[in-house]
Amino acid sequence: MTAVRIAISGARPSPAASPDVDVSEMPTEGPLVDRFGRVHDDLRLSVTDRCNLRCVYCMPAVGMTFLPRAQILSFEEITRVARIARALGVRSVRLTGGEPLVRRGIRDLVERIAALGFDDVALTTNAMLLAPMAQGLASAGLRRVNISCDSLRPERFSTIRRRGKFDVVLDAMEAAEDAGLAPIKVNVVLLRGQNDDEILDFAAFARDTGRVVRFIEYMPLDADGTWDRARLVPGKEVVERVNAVWPLEAVQRDDDPAPADRYRFADGKGEIGVISTVTEPFCGTCNRLRLTADGAIRNCLFSDAEHPVRDVLRGGGSDDDLALLLRRAVWGKLPGHGINEPGFLRPRRSMSMIGG
Ligand code: SAM
Ligand code: SF4
Repeated sequence: MTAVRIAISGARPSPAASPDVDVSEMPTEGPLVDRFGRVHDDLRLSVTDRCNLRCVYCMPAVGMTFLPRAQILSFEEITRVARIARALGVRSVRLTGGEPLVRRGIRDLVERIAALGFDDVALTTNAMLLAPMAQGLASAGLRRVNISCDSLRPERFSTIRRRGKFDVVLDAMEAAEDAGLAPIKVNVVLLRGQNDDEILDFAAFARDTGRVVRFIEYMPLDADGTWDRARLVPGKEVVERVNAVWPLEAVQRDDDPAPADRYRFADGKGEIGVISTVTEPFCGTCNRLRLTADGAIRNCLFSDAEHPVRDVLRGGGSDDDLALLLRRAVWGKLPGHGINEPGFLRPRRSMSMIGG
C-alpha cells in the first residue's frame, strides 16, 4: 500500500515537540516511522475512559474519577485524526476505552471511521452491551471484535469483573458471530491464584467454539497500583500447560507485528494465543500508536510522553500540523517499555484511561 504524502509546511514549532528528541532526521513524508525503523500502521482509538464494569486488574471498585465531557474528543475530532493517520499509512484501527460501547452513538463513529478506507476496523469490548448492537456495528463497517472474558465460571466472572454477568458475554459472542464479526478473539487476563486454574478450560473452549482465546499477562496498568509480578502468569507457562494436554504448533509470525504469539492445536481444532507483554516483550516489532479519549497521542502504553492532539484540533491547527504531531509522537518512541529494568516507573495513567 502506498502512503499518501502529506507535505509538512515549514519549520513551525509544534505543540507536540518533545524537547529531548532530535527531530532533525525525522522524515517529513512516507509512513510513520520511529528512530529504530519501526513503521507504525496500527492506531488504537480510545473513545471514552468510562466503563460499566470495574475489573480488578484495571479499575478500583469505587472512586474512579472520569474525564470531564468537555475534554473528550468529539466524533468529528476523532475522525479527523484517523483521516490524517490513514493518509500517513495507518492501515488498521481498533476502537477501545474504557468501554467503547458506553459511548453514545458509537455506531455512527464506526461508520465514519470505516468510510476512511482502513484495511481493518476492529473493537475491543467487555460485551455487556454488544448483543443488541452487533448487527448495527457490523453493517456500519466493523470487521472484528475482541471480547474480554476472564472466567468461564459465572460466579468467578462476576468477582473478577466486579459487575456484569457471564451469560451476557456468551450471548454477545453468539450475536457477534451471527452478525459476521468472526472469528472472535477472547481476551483472558490471567491472575495467579484467581483464574489460572482455568487455562485448560479456556483451551477446551477454544477447541469447541473456534473462538481464538488469547491469554494476556497482567500488566502494571491497574488503577489501584497493586500490580504484583507474582500474580502474573507467564505466557510460556500457558503454552506448556496446554501443550501437555493438546499438542500445539506455533503459527509462523512472518512479519506479523500483532502482540499475540499464536499457536494452533496440532489436531486442527482451533487456535490460542499468548500476549507476553511483561516476560517476553515484543517492543522490537511494535507498530501501534494510541489516541486517548481526551486527545493525546501516546506511542506506548507504558510511556507518559503524551502529544496533545486536542490542543492542535481546538487551536485551529491545520492537517499539516496534525500530521507533524503524529510524526513527532512516533519519532520520539523509546526502543522498549522498560518494565523489567530497575528504574521502571509505572505510567501515571492506568489502562482504561489510556485505551487498551
Ligand atoms: N473495556 C473493554 C474490555 O474490557 O475489553 C476495552 C478496554 S480494556 C482496557 C482492553 C483490554 O485490556 C481488555 O482485554 C482487558 O482485559 C485488558 N486489561 C485491562 N487492564 C489490564 C491489565 N492491568 N493487564 C493486562 N490487561 C489488562
Ligand atoms: Fe472496563 Fe475493560 Fe477496564 Fe474491565 S478491562 S474495567 S471492562 S475498561
